[in-house]
Amino acid sequence: MSTQPQPEDGRYSRQIRFQGVGSAGQERISAGHVVVIGCGGLGTGLVNLLARSGVGRITVVDRDVVELSNLQRQTLFEEADAQAGTPKAVAAAEACARINSEVNVVAVVTDVTSANVEELVSGADLVLDATDNLQTRYLLNDACVKLGIPWIYGGAVGSTGMSLTVIPGETACLRCLSPAMPASGTTDTCATVGVLASAVVIVSAFQWTEAIKLLTGDRDHLNRTMVYLDVWANDFQQGEPLTPAPDCPCCGQRRFDFLAAS
Ligand SMILES: [Zn+2]
Repeated sequence: MSTQPQPEDGRYSRQIRFQGVGSAGQERISAGHVVVIGCGGLGTGLVNLLARSGVGRITVVDRDVVELSNLQRQTLFEEADAQAGTPKAVAAAEACARINSEVNVVAVVTDVTSANVEELVSGADLVLDATDNLQTRYLLNDACVKLGIPWIYGGAVGSTGMSLTVIPGETACLRCLSPAMPASGTTDTCATVGVLASAVVIVSAFQWTEAIKLLTGDRDHLNRTMVYLDVWANDFQQGEPLTPAPDCPCCGQRRFDFLAAS
């Protein structure tokens, strides 16, 4: 009898047993490369689940250091990280090394700009938006549409959250829905109205699920709508399936205005 560990006993056994993943899906997950832009509430939730589920290569990009006010919702960080002022990307990579030594987590401590965004996402199977600002999301949208990389928008503020899966050429992109970026100061931020941990956790869990569908190749089950939720008001909605707008400046006309801006 073989004494080799069997898949059903292993680290990913419960995930492999799930019919949407299976052994073949797990192999694709292990071979996957996911870039997470931002490592706050959404980013820590995402990186945590990506590492636990065995995504082979995870790149985490964030410019900030851990602060005490992050610990309420940023689930990979601890008091020692805040006391040491550890860069978030580095603290996340260190935490993942303790969680799953089989995955390779690369920390990139930098601001995401028009000058570096294409290089940061290039070669990824998909990109996860865990940023806290629209400027970076519009940059990500430009870069991912230009390079043909799926990306998953996520946002949480107050008790609300939103998410959208963007498959360039197949589903609506950010500029199909909102061609012009809303002016800064016109939207709520976590700094002005706060944010509940549960809103962040739900959105990151939703994004992770979409990411796993993409990695395993199950596009039939992708959510092609804008998802909206309010955990305090007990409101969970999704709109109609979204298709690309023919006159979209980005995915329609292939004008990458945010990449072009310096
Ligand atoms: Zn578009």
